[in-house]
Amino acid sequence: MPIRPVDRVIAANQQLEGEGFPIRRPFPTPALMDFDPFLMLDEVGPVDYPPGRALGAPDHPHRGFETVSYVLSGEKLHEDSTGKTQLLRPGDVQWMTAGAGIVHSELPSPAFKAAGGRAHSFQIWVNLPKARKYAEPGYQHLPGDATPVAEQDGGRISVRVIAGAAFGVEAAIGTATPVWLQDWRLAPGAEAELPVPEDFNAAAYVFEGEARFGPDRASAGVGDFVVFGAGDRIVMRGGAGGGRFLLLAGAPLAEPVARYGPFVMNTEAELHAAFDDYRSGRMGVIARS
Ligand code: FE
Repeated sequence: MPIRPVDRVIAANQQLEGEGFPIRRPFPTPALMDFDPFLMLDEVGPVDYPPGRALGAPDHPHRGFETVSYVLSGEKLHEDSTGKTQLLRPGDVQWMTAGAGIVHSELPSPAFKAAGGRAHSFQIWVNLPKARKYAEPGYQHLPGDATPVAEQDGGRISVRVIAGAAFGVEAAIGTATPVWLQDWRLAPGAEAELPVPEDFNAAAYVFEGEARFGPDRASAGVGDFVVFGAGDRIVMRGGAGGGRFLLLAGAPLAEPVARYGPFVMNTEAELHAAFDDYRSGRMGVIARS
């Protein structure tokens, strides 16, 4: 099998989310509605907040999929209807299984909000297969300093392996179906080749500098989502000033998707049931003292 070619390069949409914070979203957008098994990729910020002004997403529900938060800068406080509270610091990942239903809030930590500063993070939605949509809700917390890192070429290639594997380094996060999520840094001109299973969809989202991809070393800059075509491996090279990107890959579920707002199910009837269950309090509430 060949090196995966660059199929498409999609420029992220810029918009406001939650209480009004700026995001870049390559999908879902009119240019790219589906990237099975992923449902959404948001780069939140970077935005520099004065003291007291940082924004987040207060109490809201989810059902039927997983939400992944990866903090680059700033601090987030997660609270949820299972009674758990978790502070997320720079480098930390929260891989949350909404499953049958959870209500959570994702707000700046009180200390970060008071001090102000740069907020920069990723929010990624990963679909669950039909058989796991009603799984028990919960999350995996992966501290930044516990994230496995793979290095090659004397550190000119560095990969934070959040999910999946790279250069023999295995992730600490467990996923419901085969899903890879990795934070790659390539020094100027550093070139890497990574085997990626042929049945996976695969893409790269550049968020610092510039990187080059595929047999033609096509250039992609900040905000570009590079969708790879068929093949058994990916080739990547750091641009003139180096580049940093997220690698997203996974086995497509190939199941019907019915989505509305915070719910992602297989049928419209299941979406209606999700709204009913949320409105009637069956997904719980966040207990605050
Ligand atoms: Fe959420």
